[in-house]
Amino acid sequence: MGTEKLVVIGGNAAGMTAATKARRLNHRLQIKVFEKGPYVSYAS
Ligand SMILES: Cc1cc2nc3c(=O)[nH]c(=O)nc-3n(C[C@H](O)[C@H](O)[C@H](O)COP(=O)(O)OP(=O)(O)OC[C@H]3O[C@@H](n4cnc5c(N)ncnc54)[C@H](O)[C@@H]3O)c2cc1C
Repeated sequence: MGTEKLVVIGGNAAGMTAATKARRLNHRLQIKVFEKGPYVSYAS
């Protein structure tokens, strides 16, 4: 059984929300976020 993987296209509000939610649900998930711009969204 291989590592589960998630690819997210877009690193603004929706993309980073999806990635961080997925991380909280599954600590072993391999997540890659692709953002075409120079910055990704973040919030403390
Ligand atoms: C004029 C205007 C003013 C707004 N003002 C406000 C405001 O004051 N406050 C507020 O809370 N909301 C505001 N919003 C709403 C807010 O912009 C959106 O709700 C929010 O940005 C949506 O986030 P999103 O992640 O869904 O989409 P987006 O912000 O569009 O993010 C999509 C991301 O995907 C990336 N992307 C696209 N295609 C690819 C690709 N092929 N490969 C890699 N990356 C890709 C883009 O570069 C982008 O970073 C405003 C919207 C508009 C149009």
